[in-house]
Amino acid sequence: MSVPPLQLRFVMSAMRVQDLPPTDGEVAIVGRSNVGKSSIINALANRKELARTSKTPGRTQALNLFDTSAGTTVVDLPGFGFANAPKRVRSTWPAMIEDYLLTRDRLGSVVVLIDAEIGPTPIDVTALDWLRSHELAVRVVANKYDKVKASKREKRKRELAEGCGLEPGEILWASAAKNLNIDELRRRLPLWAHPEGR
Ligand code: GDP
Repeated sequence: MSVPPLQLRFVMSAMRVQDLPPTDGEVAIVGRSNVGKSSIINALANRKELARTSKTPGRTQALNLFDTSAGTTVVDLPGFGFANAPKRVRSTWPAMIEDYLLTRDRLGSVVVLIDAEIGPTPIDVTALDWLRSHELAVRVVANKYDKVKASKREKRKRELAEGCGLEPGEILWASAAKNLNIDELRRRLPLWAHPEGR
């Protein structure tokens, strides 16, 4: 059964956590640049231009808030950076982003977008490690699944899952371009905003 498109509405960009409005529960979305974060947000909303808002100058380093018809808030975070520090995972996310991730009590889960064809990259793994080390609930969505040849899919699923320290079934395989599993993502967002025990 098809799920009606979430009505995603751009609410605001904030540079400080304390400027955010109260919400009923949030899912943050992160991913290295070019992984298709804007495309996923647009696909969720069934619109072509929505997430361009987040790419306008001045907003790329901000927390960009979208509310949805399901009551869940989606928070688009800037692309991540990590210093190549051996033994220790050192985030180079701006302090404000770390502040958001580490102090926001409305944050239910962090969706890490990974390129289904080439991921996880070392920076993806470092991000996952950092998020887990801070006991954040992490959900992996592998975008651009359409780029993986049918004959390679099973192997790719195992490789990507293993690289993320997950089982293949724990990863949502999606394609913003081909609208694959976008309905499933719509279904999961409200659940991920209120994971059990958080
Ligand atoms: P962002 O930098 O993470 O916001 O990435 P964009 O949404 O701008 O996408 C980066 C590029 O990947 C663009 O050329 C998109 O058209 C392309 N892209 C995004 N999602 C998909 C997908 O699911 N499949 C394919 N084949 N290309 C995609």
